[in-house]
Amino acid sequence: MRVSVIGGGLCGLTAAIRLAQRGVEVELFEAAPALGGRTRSFFEPHMQQWVDNGPHLLSGAYHDTLNLLEEAGASDNIAWQVSLSLPLWDSERGHFLLKPNASLPLALTLPFACARLPGHSWADIPAFLRLALLLRQSPSASESVQSWLNRANITAPLCRDLLEPLCLGAMNETLIDANAASFRTVLHNAFADHTSARLGWFRKPLSEALIEPLLNMAQELGVRIHKNTRVRNIQAGSKGIELQSAQGSQGFNACILALPLRSGQQLLGLPKTAVTRRITNIHMWLRDMPALSHPFIGGIGTAGQWFFDVSNQMRNGGDNNIPMRHICAVISADDGMLHSDDLVQLVCSELSQLSGNHRRLIPEHTRIISEHHATTSVTDNVPGNRLRPELPDGLIDACEAPFPGELPSTIEYAVKRGNQAAERCCLP
Ligand SMILES: Cc1cc2nc3c(=O)[nH]c(=O)nc-3n(C[C@H](O)[C@H](O)[C@H](O)COP(=O)(O)OP(=O)(O)OC[C@H]3O[C@@H](n4cnc5c(N)ncnc54)[C@H](O)[C@@H]3O)c2cc1C
Repeated sequence: MRVSVIGGGLCGLTAAIRLAQRGVEVELFEAAPALGGRTRSFFEPHMQQWVDNGPHLLSGAYHDTLNLLEEAGASDNIAWQVSLSLPLWDSERGHFLLKPNASLPLALTLPFACARLPGHSWADIPAFLRLALLLRQSPSASESVQSWLNRANITAPLCRDLLEPLCLGAMNETLIDANAASFRTVLHNAFADHTSARLGWFRKPLSEALIEPLLNMAQELGVRIHKNTRVRNIQAGSKGIELQSAQGSQGFNACILALPLRSGQQLLGLPKTAVTRRITNIHMWLRDMPALSHPFIGGIGTAGQWFFDVSNQMRNGGDNNIPMRHICAVISADDGMLHSDDLVQLVCSELSQLSGNHRRLIPEHTRIISEHHATTSVTDNVPGNRLRPELPDGLIDACEAPFPGELPSTIEYAVKRGNQAAERCCLP
């Protein structure tokens, strides 16, 4: 059995590894010069250092990802919180920390931790009970998070300080746009226990911490990797699946499409109906700035929703030779309304207040990375919004196209799709 995998992001790498572990002959095709897709690093010439397209947070509930990284010997590349700790800031309340007591069950301590936050009250506790009851019911496939939460009369402070940041972070959508069934899955997984609720981040650039170990594992298992090879056409025939690229055509018994839905639709000549959302990352290098009080801080009511201090990850912190702090401000579900100069000024002024730095911050260098198709939205089963019904035998759809109730477009969803595609491929 010879199988091709199209797409060298996390989904494709996972599928290739899982197939090779079952003794299948695998070839992986990646259009870009390097693997990694949306989890990639690039060399920033001005700073002479590696930088990630954007900081990636992991949740303790990412079981498939953690298993894969453990097998690849890369678990130590993740720094984990001991238990959930969410540092937040707004201009009126200053800094505050949502930190449930780790020695009590999470379901018990989370409502109390929220009720004690500034601007909150004991009204949060019955709201949590109503939220727990709501979690037992499945929302309709097309219901939005906002309308679902309205049913349980969730308090405004709880939405603003917990549910909205979580929805933007996990779903890359506002409460109004995000799908309730998938958000329910996120909440179920994330708040299962203290270990699942904690957050983690990579200690090194993504290419080194995540992609290199997976690439090494794939190559040791015998996977043949073709970088710089965009697959331009796929033909299904009686002998299997034929792929066409600039390097000619090759035949396989089966082929896995490990792509974002948009790219899958483009490759198959289908209309690009995928709904996608943008994430904008504003990387700023600042001279003589002290470290942030936490590795990341969530801004409430700010344009920059998360401020990550990635100086240490990118090996630019604590090193006196390069006295620059590298802060990355993240805007999820960015509507792209602000011009980049205004955006930099705005997040710099927010960063200056948040860091207690009363002078105007002027970055030494800035790099804005705005990914227009950062995530594929969860969509109802609209005809044409999935490749599945159209596919001939041997062509396996592992495209990122989350259905209501499935995980949203995240690292864990990519790894799960890779695992599932490899399993489907090996079914008799
Ligand atoms: C800025 C940003 C921040 C994010 N933050 C988080 C986070 O904090 N936590 C989290 O869990 N998730 C996060 N995500 C989401 C996560 O990165 C993605 O869900 C995941 O990486 C998707 O992996 P994938 O393999 O499905 O797709 P991709 O990574 O997109 O891989 C697809 C690959 O296919 C290649 N390709 C496309 N067409 C062809 C073709 N015709 N032939 C050959 N190759 C082709 C592409 O070049 C690409 O390398 C973030 C995403 C972005 C963009």
